Amino acid sequence: MTAVRANPVSDRPDAGTERPNLLGMTPEELGEALAGHFRERGQPAYRARQVAHWVHAGAARSIAEMTDLPLAERDALEGSFRLEEPALDTVSVSSDGTAKHLWKLRGGEVVESVLIPAPGRLTLCISSQAGCALACRFCATGWSGFGRQLSAAEIAGQYRASARWAGERGMGNVSNVVFMGMGEPLANRKAVFPALTILNRGYGLGARRITVSTVGVIPGIEALTRRREQFRLALSLHAPVSELRRELIPLEKRYPLDQLVKALEGFNRGAGRRITFEYTMIRGVNDDLALLPPLTSLATRVQAFVNLIPFNPIPYVDWKPSHRKRVHAFRSALEEAGVPAAVREPRGRDIDAACGQLRATRYPGLQGPGRRRPAEGGMVSGSAGEAGAGTAGSAHPVEDAPPADLPEPGEGAH
Ligand code: SAH
Repeated sequence: MTAVRANPVSDRPDAGTERPNLLGMTPEELGEALAGHFRERGQPAYRARQVAHWVHAGAARSIAEMTDLPLAERDALEGSFRLEEPALDTVSVSSDGTAKHLWKLRGGEVVESVLIPAPGRLTLCISSQAGCALACRFCATGWSGFGRQLSAAEIAGQYRASARWAGERGMGNVSNVVFMGMGEPLANRKAVFPALTILNRGYGLGARRITVSTVGVIPGIEALTRRREQFRLALSLHAPVSELRRELIPLEKRYPLDQLVKALEGFNRGAGRRITFEYTMIRGVNDDLALLPPLTSLATRVQAFVNLIPFNPIPYVDWKPSHRKRVHAFRSALEEAGVPAAVREPRGRDIDAACGQLRATRYPGLQGPGRRRPAEGGMVSGSAGEAGAGTAGSAHPVEDAPPADLPEPGEGAH
């Protein structure tokens, strides 16, 4: 089933040069901004709480819908702020109930998020970047190149709009959020960190129900370690030895496993912190039984839970998922060695919503082999990056991506 709603969006990028979007503010920022606004207008203090409630209860799609505000106050609010979610472009619903939303952002970029219902839970998988600069060889998003960073409002907005969509269809409340959509969240800390605060304290989603998934951006892991909340961390490991990992994940050259594990140990020392390893099993590539001892030893060192994910086919490489028997052999061997492990069944494959299959781009013609070939020829290591914070809206092939500067200036502020 596919529904399309034409929803015009402005052609300007979300550059923050105009009225601030209420959806991108942390509860503190929102409280302060609204208190100041209503104070100046001689309005009672409770107006700020009314508006904050409209924002976080999620029902109002616009300031005009904040019906307990006098009309004049709605107009005045509209003059100083905006409430803008990503515009819904397309929804695809899988035969297994998984629903993929395609969101259109300012400037024309598009990103996807996925709602994954399961007994007793509803997981929302959201995007943190339009495209991705890290070029992991097995990941469709990596092949589509980097568009731009999402703003905190665009990240939180995916949650807000998806949660309302699910609610309206009787799917219940979103119980978990995973940053496993498009992009590398820890290469966009400037927006992802406030978005974590907004989801947690604005929308009231428990920190332990929010998982940040990274391919191994060490400064980002360290920054997450410094946060007080117990956000979960997933590491996309995919290979337990550096030589093999380099072939799959160009970022391994920059942040090699031995250093990565030290950062994970630091994270794991925080009380209540949980680490998951994601391990995409590719036939004949990373599923040799000889990889089990180093995998077991890494997982034991950082007390990780291991998620084994049969590789989801993508158009750009001729790889196949590991045989079922091999995937289950990995699980049993890990468990016998005392490492908790599970096999993650693919969801939403029929609508290209499964892990690694998200590849929406505003330039469909640029997708696919020929645009670039990660990890073949070694050109990709320099393209990793916190790229594009100031280049919103300028989707470009990866060759034009700004140079790598992963450690983010001003990171300490969060
Ligand atoms: N950049 C972050 C967030 C994206 S998460 C990260 O890599 O962790 C997307 C998850 O799907 C990751 O665990 C990724 O390794 C996995 N994945 C990517 N391509 C896949 C594929 N083709 N089949 C199965 N899993 C894949």
